Amino acid sequence: MDPLAAVFPGICSLCLRRSHRAIDLCPDCEAAFETNDLTCPVCAGPAPAGDASPAAICGACLVNPPPWTLTLAPFTYSPPLRRIIEGLKSGNGLREARALGSLLIPAIQSRYGNDALPEALVPLPLARRRQRRRGFNQAELLAKVIARGLGLPHIHGRLVRIRNDPPQRSLPRSARLRNVRGAFAVRTGGRRKSLPKRVALIDDVSTTGATVRAAAETLRRAGVEEVHVWVAAKARPPGAIENAPHSPAG
Ligand SMILES: [Zn+2]
Ligand SMILES: [Zn+2]
Repeated sequence: MDPLAAVFPGICSLCLRRSHRAIDLCPDCEAAFETNDLTCPVCAGPAPAGDASPAAICGACLVNPPPWTLTLAPFTYSPPLRRIIEGLKSGNGLREARALGSLLIPAIQSRYGNDALPEALVPLPLARRRQRRRGFNQAELLAKVIARGLGLPHIHGRLVRIRNDPPQRSLPRSARLRNVRGAFAVRTGGRRKSLPKRVALIDDVSTTGATVRAAAETLRRAGVEEVHVWVAAKARPPGAIENAPHSPAG
C-alpha cells in the first residue's frame, strides 16, 4: 500500500470505495481506462494505417502541420475516464483534477524521458461566460496540479479568451475553425515578462482540436517558439470510425 494512503486516505471518485493511495481514484477503476495507444505523436489521433512505429506522423499532420509540436493524450475520452472529466467540470473539480494530474504526471515523464520539458504550463482559458457560470476553469485546476508535480511554473491569466463561442461539438469542422479564429489573445505590456519559448498548453480533453489550434496560433504569434499540448484524453471526432483517416484538427 502507498505509505501516503494512511495520511491522505483517498476515496475513489468513480466507485466511491477507499482508493488505498493518496489519490482519489482506485487502481481497479484506473485499470479500466482505455489508453490512447498507437497514435500520431503530433495530434494524438490514430497513427497512419499499418505503421506502428512511435514516430509515425499521420497524413493529416504532414499535409497541414498544426501550430504545436506534439500532443500528449494518454487516454481516450470514453467511460469510465469520461465520468472523471465530467466530474472535473461540476462540483469544485479539485478531487478529479488531482486524480487526473496523478495519471498525467507519470505519462509526461515517460513520454519526455531525458528530453527537456516545456518551461511553463499554460491552461486553455474558458470562454468568460462559461467560466462565470462554472466559477472555475477545469484546465487551470489541472495545470496547477501538473505544474506542482513537475516543479514547473504555471502561467495564469496571460492567454485569455476574448470572445464567447457556442459549443464546438455541434458545428461542422469548417465552421469550428471560423468560429474560434480570433478567440484568444495574449496579454502583454506593463511589467509582464515575455512568455517562455517552450510552453505546454493544458486542457482536460481534446475534441476537435479547433480551439487548441486557435490558442496555439495565438501563443506562437506572441513569440512562443514551441507549443506542446497536454490533455488527459483524446476524443474521436463525432462519427469517426476507429483507425479511419482523421481530420488534422484532432
Ligand atoms: Zn474505483
Ligand atoms: Zn497527426
